Amino acid sequence: MTYRLELNEASIAFGTTEVVKRVSLKLREGDIGCLLGPSGCGKTTLLRAIAGFEPLRQGSIALHGKVVCDTQHMIAPEQRRVGMVFQDFALFPHLSVAENIGFGLRGRTAQAKQARIAELLTLVGLTDAAQQHPHQLSGGQQQRIALARAMAPRPEILLLDEPFSALDPELRGQLASEVRTLLKQDGITAILVTHDQTEAFTMADQIGVMNQGELHQWDSGYNLYHHPATTFVADFVGRGALFAIKVADRNSIATPFGRLSGKLPNGVRPGTGLQLLIRPDDIHLTTKQDGIYARINDRLFQGAEYLYTLQLESGDRFQCLAPSHQQHAIGDTVTLKLDMQDLVLFSDDGQAL
Ligand code: ATP
Repeated sequence: MTYRLELNEASIAFGTTEVVKRVSLKLREGDIGCLLGPSGCGKTTLLRAIAGFEPLRQGSIALHGKVVCDTQHMIAPEQRRVGMVFQDFALFPHLSVAENIGFGLRGRTAQAKQARIAELLTLVGLTDAAQQHPHQLSGGQQQRIALARAMAPRPEILLLDEPFSALDPELRGQLASEVRTLLKQDGITAILVTHDQTEAFTMADQIGVMNQGELHQWDSGYNLYHHPATTFVADFVGRGALFAIKVADRNSIATPFGRLSGKLPNGVRPGTGLQLLIRPDDIHLTTKQDGIYARINDRLFQGAEYLYTLQLESGDRFQCLAPSHQQHAIGDTVTLKLDMQDLVLFSDDGQAL
């Protein structure tokens, strides 16, 4: 199978500092990928390398099966047919909306150009604004035009660098889901860079979590949340707590919550120390008297739910969600039940088992 984008052990360095370390990933045609991670982890640098603005120290990048960069060759950005959308929109202020969209369509007949502009104006829902100038539009409308301009020449791949960060939070969520629909309707393959996991979940088919230049996992949002590959991913994506546990026998572990049964990976020996991930949605507060007792240390009203911070007798702390009509006060002792599909376990070096 030929992938639209394929990175093979790609490393990027500035001087002696390696800021992207042996990253490999594959993106299928029409899919939306995302690079997610904390500030400084190397997301933008990797995106710039895909665009052709940074050379590789090691490895290769291929677009549609053709190597565009390795340690010997580097095809120029304009020959890669890559589209880019930036956080500051970067529209031409003196050009109309239609002219902005048509900017990258040089070399086509006037008729073909007009047809593609009209198609994109319809797609982004701004047909009536064709003759207006960027300053006459809202931030969200300007970003839709920037997107239409980048999509116009049908790039091999569209790269979006924090495209919503200049917009207010409510608009960001709405636009992220709209942009996903637009890209899917036009069949465009794209890579988004963000540090916002909600945005990543909303837009992407495949998400890569990066830390300090390393790609920890390249996977669906569901798998990142439910089957994180490392403790870093477990911690960075969604809420959760890690507990030190010991393997008790072939199918149970001794934890601060008591003995828990579940499928354990082959070969783990009784007595081995591991870490167990518990997500807030693995825990249910009950009214039963028998069960695991915990004290409510804190609570945060979130509308439909309260996010409670609980503490076990052992001193271990964790969070859980409960419907907000079922109120518990700080200091109350509550009973809880664990409801997990799988035991999500990690070895001491932070790798999932
Ligand atoms: P942010 O979300 O803050 O933009 P990021 O994950 O996109 O962060 P990068 O901008 O890729 O991170 O930067 C990764 C590392 O590379 C950082 O330590 C940064 O200081 C360094 N870096 C980026 N560009 C250069 C450069 N031109 N010269 C030297 N170091 C650089």
